[in-house]
Amino acid sequence: MSDTQDPPTDESTTEQTDSLDGEYDPGAVEPAWQDQWVIDETYAYDGDADTRFSIDTPPPTVSGNLHMGHLYQFTLQDFVARYHRMADDTVYFPFGYDDNGIASERLTERELDIRHQDFERREFQEKCREICTQYEDEFTEDVQSLAISVDWDNTYKTIAPNVQRVSQLSFLDLYEKGREYRQRAPTIWCPDCETAISQVEQEDEDKHTKFNDIAFDLLEDSDGPVEDETFTISTTRPELLPACVSVFVHPDDDENQHLVGGTARVPLFGQEVPIIADERVDMETGSGLVMCCTFGDQNDIEWYQAHDLDLRLAIDESATMTEVAGDYEGMHTTEAREAIIEDLDEAGYLLESRDHDHTVQVHERCGVEVEYLVTEQWYIELLDKKDEYLQAGRDMEWFPEKMFSRYQHWIEGLEWDWCISRQRDSGIPIPVWYCDDCGEPVLADPEQLPVDPLSDDPPVDSCPACGHDTLTPEEDVFDTWATSSLTPLVNAGWDWHADGSAATDGAASITDGTFEMEMSELYPFDLRPQGHDIISFWLFHTVVKCYEHTGEVPFENVMINGMVLDENREAMSKSKGNVIPPSEVLENFPVDAARYWAAGTSIGDDFPYKEGDLEAGERLLQKLWNASRLVDQLTPAAESVDDVDQTELSAVDRWLLAELDATVESVTEKFEDYAFSKARNELRSFFWNTFCDDYLEIAKQRLSGGGDPSTEYTLVRAHRTFLKLFAPFLPHITEELWSRLYAEDDGSVHTTDWPVAAGYEADLAAGETAMEVVSALRRYKTEHGLALNADLDTVEVYGHVAGFEDAIAEAMHVDQLETYDEAPEITTEISGIDLDYSLVGPEFGSSVGDIDAGIESGDYEIDGDRLVVAGEFELDAEMFEVEESRTYSGEGEMTETDSAVVVVQ
Ligand SMILES: [Zn+2]
Ligand SMILES: [Zn+2]
Repeated sequence: MSDTQDPPTDESTTEQTDSLDGEYDPGAVEPAWQDQWVIDETYAYDGDADTRFSIDTPPPTVSGNLHMGHLYQFTLQDFVARYHRMADDTVYFPFGYDDNGIASERLTERELDIRHQDFERREFQEKCREICTQYEDEFTEDVQSLAISVDWDNTYKTIAPNVQRVSQLSFLDLYEKGREYRQRAPTIWCPDCETAISQVEQEDEDKHTKFNDIAFDLLEDSDGPVEDETFTISTTRPELLPACVSVFVHPDDDENQHLVGGTARVPLFGQEVPIIADERVDMETGSGLVMCCTFGDQNDIEWYQAHDLDLRLAIDESATMTEVAGDYEGMHTTEAREAIIEDLDEAGYLLESRDHDHTVQVHERCGVEVEYLVTEQWYIELLDKKDEYLQAGRDMEWFPEKMFSRYQHWIEGLEWDWCISRQRDSGIPIPVWYCDDCGEPVLADPEQLPVDPLSDDPPVDSCPACGHDTLTPEEDVFDTWATSSLTPLVNAGWDWHADGSAATDGAASITDGTFEMEMSELYPFDLRPQGHDIISFWLFHTVVKCYEHTGEVPFENVMINGMVLDENREAMSKSKGNVIPPSEVLENFPVDAARYWAAGTSIGDDFPYKEGDLEAGERLLQKLWNASRLVDQLTPAAESVDDVDQTELSAVDRWLLAELDATVESVTEKFEDYAFSKARNELRSFFWNTFCDDYLEIAKQRLSGGGDPSTEYTLVRAHRTFLKLFAPFLPHITEELWSRLYAEDDGSVHTTDWPVAAGYEADLAAGETAMEVVSALRRYKTEHGLALNADLDTVEVYGHVAGFEDAIAEAMHVDQLETYDEAPEITTEISGIDLDYSLVGPEFGSSVGDIDAGIESGDYEIDGDRLVVAGEFELDAEMFEVEESRTYSGEGEMTETDSAVVVVQ
């Protein structure tokens, strides 16, 4: 090994090979390396390498700026990428933007203060592209400034033509496989975004509202017509009265059973509706009688389908009342609610109106309460294969394991197939036309893709089913997740070819072509990293789609990260005003320090922002810099550190390298398991405590009299290893040090091989004890005002330091070192009692003073694990702690360490 460079002889070369004068300056070093890595393509994927690791990076939704969650998540992914780039041969670490969805449309509307409805589709799409490109360019710079080691030659945008092609191919393939259908049925609808949405896009929100008791006239009960009778319906949504089509009673509801089979009249609106029994009625709420409206919720839809009820659509796509609502037509639902309550009251139908808190379903993008409308939509079938998709989830390895249950619960709670059509402008068009006469769908030809049916011609001139010659294009676009769920296929270059004769392991498909992957070596991907908030969105849908297309689960491993919280462990949100933008953090701290913080928690756990951790990171950078400078100074004749055989190493050097071996093995294992915080803490503690505090001090002493090949070799070998082990966490400072001290052919530390244990053998325990002894002696010298190289006549060590006697003696300048296996004579006396007043106070109240006095005067005894004070107060073990003083009565001065006793004569 001869890779340390000669000390500079010429001032002009000090830029490159300077010994490390001065302080570390991250403000200058970090941006310079960020640029250099991009220029050098340091992180380029080498498809020909023998072993590779592939990551299916989450494409951030283009909807705003970089936040702490991004910083945290990208940094975690980067730890994986950097580790595997060194441990394997190459890493596929792409970057994409998800810019085809509602989020990007709404960003554009917000940014330009426009409404999509006011533009031609194409014009609005252009505006979206413009705004998204601006945001994406800024975002890319931000990501590069976090030192995320993305291969910038492998980037994609979900709105780009090649991704549109993949998305539309997916539609064609699933249609051919019988996994898609189009149906006119009740759909979950966002009246603000004016589009259908899927189950996963609705979320619970607690709302404060009124629960209204409304009288319904009973016209008939099970025995026939009745007069002047009413019953009560309680509802939070009286604006749905015009859509009421029946009343339901639970079959076990004895009190109301006589109503079943009867008829009621809806107040104000007058329609007569049947009274029906059904088990889905919640008997605990309101009167036990419930109205069914088309549609107020999921139950209404089930009732409507099960009992073949009328359809009365009182609310339209924009939450405006329809003509079914009579006098209320044209009002917004909230307006209609007020008006109807007022009119019910006036007409004597409103019995009571009381405050009520309940949970409603809102659209997660805009927070507006969803409606259930009957519309025609495209669906991917899910409900028939829940078990298969659950098994697919089990086939992946989850980090942390507990996150699988979220996937499981989502599938178990699925109630809807996946609605993939959206009534928006800026998505990927659904590649289909419909026959004007018979409604037959005509799908695009795979060779045509990508197509926009609104501007491109259908593949046939007339309907293949009936021969009619007018076909109408589909106007809807895909749900954004319908495309982002294809990222593994996009990344692997999945495509359809008409000529299926090419040698391929791809599946035969859309009528006799083949699907192939340009980079099939990537699939299945080694890792899907993502947040726990999108397990039901991104992960689930990716598994479904990729599994259907390839028959394989798309990932070997899934790494799920938690959310970043503020310092008080609260979610950061604009409304709370506790958002910390990354730019603010990085103004005050080096990127490497922020990365040190990001490695501070177990993956999967939510994670508070902690300035203290950033400060600790900064201190580590200083320590690493200063230790490196010292190593550099101690090994000036670097060529002489070559090839020191294990047998020629001194005991303490061999011990350090054996400890280093153990650390390498342990840290490697933790990287493999995505246990970054454990890896970070173990590495830091070994570097700081063992290497810097103990070993470096000894090395300084040993080299003070001139060169020592064993020590110099050990210093350089350990130092190089530290730089590599720290490289995934602290990419800038390790690169700077590597380039100044070790770079061969301008190579980057990030493309060197990950260290492996070299098989050094030593008595680790004896070495650790010896280090304790050295520290104790160093402390002794400092406390007695002695120079560190001052001679000590005789030192006795009681403890196991066999093999390290010379090392201790040499390092601490001890003339005579005597070692003993037995402990010396030490007397132990109780020097005080420490009370835990938080327990003693509540137990003894006003007697605490007496107890204090008793202890003060020595009037106490220890009885087993209890303390008896003044003969009357008995304190349990957890209430007190005994302080002991240990005295050595022999000659000399005693110091105790964890595993040895040291006596200086
Ligand atoms: Zn919405
Ligand atoms: Zn037709």
